[in-house]
Amino acid sequence: MKTQTALLRYPWETRLTTVDLPNDPLPDHALIRVEACGICGTDLSTAADVNSSSWHPFGHEVAGIVEKVGANVTAVRLGTKVVLESSSFCGTCSVCRNGRVDLCNKAPNFWQQPAMGFSTYMMAPGCCLVPYDGLTPEAACLAEPAGVAYDMVKTAGIALGETVAVVGPGPIGLMAVALALRSGASEVWCIGRGHSAQRLKVAAAMGARVYPWDKSLGEAEDLHRKFNHVLLTAPVQHLPECLNLLSYGGELTYVGIGVGDGHVSFDANDFHFRKLQLRASFASPAIYYPHVLKLLAGKALDVNLLVSHRLALKHIDQAMHLCRDKKDTVVKVVVLPGADGSMGLA
Ligand SMILES: [Zn+2]
Ligand SMILES: [Zn+2]
Repeated sequence: MKTQTALLRYPWETRLTTVDLPNDPLPDHALIRVEACGICGTDLSTAADVNSSSWHPFGHEVAGIVEKVGANVTAVRLGTKVVLESSSFCGTCSVCRNGRVDLCNKAPNFWQQPAMGFSTYMMAPGCCLVPYDGLTPEAACLAEPAGVAYDMVKTAGIALGETVAVVGPGPIGLMAVALALRSGASEVWCIGRGHSAQRLKVAAAMGARVYPWDKSLGEAEDLHRKFNHVLLTAPVQHLPECLNLLSYGGELTYVGIGVGDGHVSFDANDFHFRKLQLRASFASPAIYYPHVLKLLAGKALDVNLLVSHRLALKHIDQAMHLCRDKKDTVVKVVVLPGADGSMGLA
């Protein structure tokens, strides 16, 4: 069978093409009709990465409907609404058996498939399919980035009454604001560039105190030594200045995308004498989907605040450029492949 799929390459080029999928899924795979797929910061980084000069499929924040299943796929059936884990744990290796499934990425995933989330149809391993109900597809496809925010807040280990600064008001940062408040933070500040006006508005709507800031945080003396936690979702170059924001014994939790030079330096004496801590969050494998689906359904993570733009698959190029050029109005862009009448070309 044939599917329409979007391909991406540097610099910021997309094109729609038709690719062949097997008529019947492999025994451990399922055919998914994509209903919604979010554009992620990773996609934008890839578009801007000079090393990504060959065409490849993309889109990993996927909600869809199971259309066919392979013989070994038993957890879902025809018509099940699913979200796709962007990577999964295997359940059988020694790391998994020791109870740290969060450290295993050995299960099959969909990253090598000829069509990914920005497609009408795609194949995916059965192990990555998580059934859902009671959500729109555009809300459900936020499960993947919501899992990233969830992992970050869980990694931070916020205690009741602690103060939190979220630096970087992208979708992950905004969801981290909501989850940090739910975790018991007494106050959450959201710090972002002044041009991210709409994102800061959403942060305020989610309960954060907003702090627009266009200079170095090293100069923001009113914020220094103020927070028990900093959750950094902005480029890693901001890490050293964010350490200034931590109170004695404070913890900085970082999630980032490895693009460009990842080296930073900071004053180890200050780090030592103030008993600071540094933690990395990386939601791969993608876990906690059952939790985040409930948080999305219960409006703790409000899709109406988060999704600012919805576009059809044929407008994928416009969708990507919106993310690049309209930082003042874009929060999260979701592509709805079913919305443009260009369903499967079977
Ligand atoms: Zn993502
Ligand atoms: Zn494993």
